[in-house]
Amino acid sequence: MGQTAVSIGANVFQFFTRNPRGGAAKPLDMLDVGEFESYAAERGIGPILAHAPYTLNAAGAESRVREFAEATMFDDLKRLEATPGAMYNFHPGSHVGQGIEAGITLIADMLNRIAGNLGFAPATTVLLETMAGKGSEVGGRFEELKAIVDCVEMPLGVCLDTCHVWDGGFDIANDLDGVLEEFDSVVGLERLKAVHLNDSLNPLGSRKDRHAKLGKGRIGLEALSRIVNHPLLRDLPFYLETPCDLQGYKEEIALVRSLRGENP
Ligand code: FE
Ligand code: FE
Ligand code: ZN
Repeated sequence: MGQTAVSIGANVFQFFTRNPRGGAAKPLDMLDVGEFESYAAERGIGPILAHAPYTLNAAGAESRVREFAEATMFDDLKRLEATPGAMYNFHPGSHVGQGIEAGITLIADMLNRIAGNLGFAPATTVLLETMAGKGSEVGGRFEELKAIVDCVEMPLGVCLDTCHVWDGGFDIANDLDGVLEEFDSVVGLERLKAVHLNDSLNPLGSRKDRHAKLGKGRIGLEALSRIVNHPLLRDLPFYLETPCDLQGYKEEIALVRSLRGENP
């Protein structure tokens, strides 16, 4: 993955810890991990961002669903000890009709049990992803993320997904400063550790969560340019989740670099 990243001009990347729809992870090959660590150090790659499977729902109504979420995250965090300094992003969950409050409690309780069962402070920063608020998703409002952060013993960060906040009704195209001020006053900008850089197929507040290629959606290239250059965001790692193949990502990375006035 490190060599692929370098071949398309990336200096960070996101990967799924296992099949995005769930299931067992391959056993860790420590030789691979060691090679990756030295390659990443040499080429200045990082921080790498691990993404939990989409099926992970800490706020599920069925205990089977919640147990899968807990076991998966616990296992992922143990495995990520092999790559210290990585980050681990997950969708807080969907309360499936139990209500936002109940959802927040279930998510926070799971994180606290995981922290307790690990028995050590993870070398990985766990990030809550901002969500579009689709269906019964928790995390579409900054207050919901803050409520989770406040109830959890381990230090949590936030990953801001540009498509999700836009779809959730935060106008990052016309009022980026206002949105960042709101984030700062509710959650605190010191919690913001990563950005998922995506355009959106749908209009502001649509709560749809359909990613578009950069400049091919409703957020638009001018707004995305302001995002990647904003003094409060510029130094964060940006991860693309646009519907691209490898060549497409290579082109988008070159585009983002040119928007930032960087050499490709
Ligand atoms: Fe995500
Ligand atoms: Fe995302
Ligand atoms: Zn999304």
